Amino acid sequence: MSDRQFFGHVVDGEEVESVDGGRFDVWNPWTQQVWAEAAEGGPEDAARAVASSRRAFDEGPWPRMGRAERAAAIHRLADLMEQRADDLATLDTTNMAKPFAQAKHDVARSVWNFRFFADHQRDSCGEVYPMDSGHHSYSEYGPAGVVAAISPWNFPLMMATWKIAPAIAWGNTCIIKPSEDTPASVTLLGRLAIEAGLPPGVLNVLNGHGTPAGSSLTADDRVDRVTFTGSSTTGRLVMASAAAHLAPVSLELGGKGANIVFEDADLDNAVHWAVEAIFRNSGQICLAGSRLFVASGIYDEFMARFTAAAEALTIGAPFDPRTRFSSLASRKHFEKVSSYVDGVGLDGGKIVTGGVDEGGRWLVRPTIITDLPLTAPAYCEEIFGPVCVVNRFDSEAEVVALANDTRYGLNAMLFTENLSRAHRVASRLRAGTVWVNCFFIRDLRTPFGGVGDSGVGREGGNFSREFFTEPKAVVMQIDRGAT
Ligand code: NAD
Repeated sequence: MSDRQFFGHVVDGEEVESVDGGRFDVWNPWTQQVWAEAAEGGPEDAARAVASSRRAFDEGPWPRMGRAERAAAIHRLADLMEQRADDLATLDTTNMAKPFAQAKHDVARSVWNFRFFADHQRDSCGEVYPMDSGHHSYSEYGPAGVVAAISPWNFPLMMATWKIAPAIAWGNTCIIKPSEDTPASVTLLGRLAIEAGLPPGVLNVLNGHGTPAGSSLTADDRVDRVTFTGSSTTGRLVMASAAAHLAPVSLELGGKGANIVFEDADLDNAVHWAVEAIFRNSGQICLAGSRLFVASGIYDEFMARFTAAAEALTIGAPFDPRTRFSSLASRKHFEKVSSYVDGVGLDGGKIVTGGVDEGGRWLVRPTIITDLPLTAPAYCEEIFGPVCVVNRFDSEAEVVALANDTRYGLNAMLFTENLSRAHRVASRLRAGTVWVNCFFIRDLRTPFGGVGDSGVGREGGNFSREFFTEPKAVVMQIDRGAT
């Protein structure tokens, strides 16, 4: 008898096996062992999950419930998540080697996703349009229907809840398909939704691989919205699949963020955030500051401090409280990141510090690269690992052009003490988010998303409302003229 944990599908208020009993292995990338199994979703499992969510939307109480009542139910789920925060974080840490303190941070943020959108929908109202014609118009925001949400492995719980929370808060029902690399925490979330009393089918979890589990969801014409976070390559497939039945898509995709340090920057602050931006979560962040541009006048001093800070990160087991940096999330991903690092020398680049660890773990050390041609794959493509390519610049115009010279446009950072320059450059950068003298700070009311290959649409606050609802105009005659 195996002592491995099992993560099934959560459908219609219960946890179930796949129709054909199929399962796949779930790995712990730090120990390099299989520690669990998950249900391998196929087309029939996807169809069962969609049918359940369709029924819950068409016949169930959720879309018709009062806003305050729905908000209260979502807060109950958030309460349970808080009570089980250690368990949720333990699953993410086990599943992808995320340092435990960072996983706890992700759980807190996931709880906030639910609380924020619960209150946001409760407190939102439509617009009123007084008309001169003796009519009166107003808008209302009704739920869109069944939402298919597909999420990646780098923030397993946080990325999933960023989609689930607004979807269900606005009265939709939702099927979440977590990454096959990290099914654990999202499955526990599905169990907690049952415990919190969410009606069956409001939140279904479908486990399995992109094809066939994810692709069966996006192709199902009973699905009204598709929200996806993952690679740009998969995003194209998802959009094409949803287009066949005209389901609107929201795509949050890859990035190759520029981080610009001007000569007048507060260097302590800039070094701190440069390290966070590329080495947090072992660089497995869509928002990573993977292209660093440093003003020539401070280049040598900045590089000395940045390199020292990268080398000072404590590398180790993800559950060790001293650990700031651990292994990559899977063997497949380790091989991908390693191949970019291996190519750096061939392309004429220099590894200042870091590189692929030779100890047999799926570990790439915090890596800083210079002298790389701007056409090299490691410079142009998303590596999604702890690899920072540094270049120097001499003028504001030059660095803006360099920063914008990418097909991605998710985010950028800039460090300066000059207020005018901060505003000017922020407005010229082609990116969905620009951080000035900071990184990773979010107000959930603001738009989040990317330009170009980094995505389609925006989520957050009213932007999520636009996507997850069907706005309706009501026009009413109020004056037929004097009788
Ligand atoms: P991925 O595209 O390989 O997979 C993402 C999800 O899509 C997984 O659940 C996968 O099973 C599913 N999938 C794969 N093929 C599918 C298909 N044909 N139809 C439907 N679903 C399918 O991405 P990943 O490796 O899991 O995640 C890393 C990527 O995610 C990086 O590019 C990163 O930049 C991006 N990302 C973006 C954001 C953002 O907010 N913009 C946030 C986190 C990660």
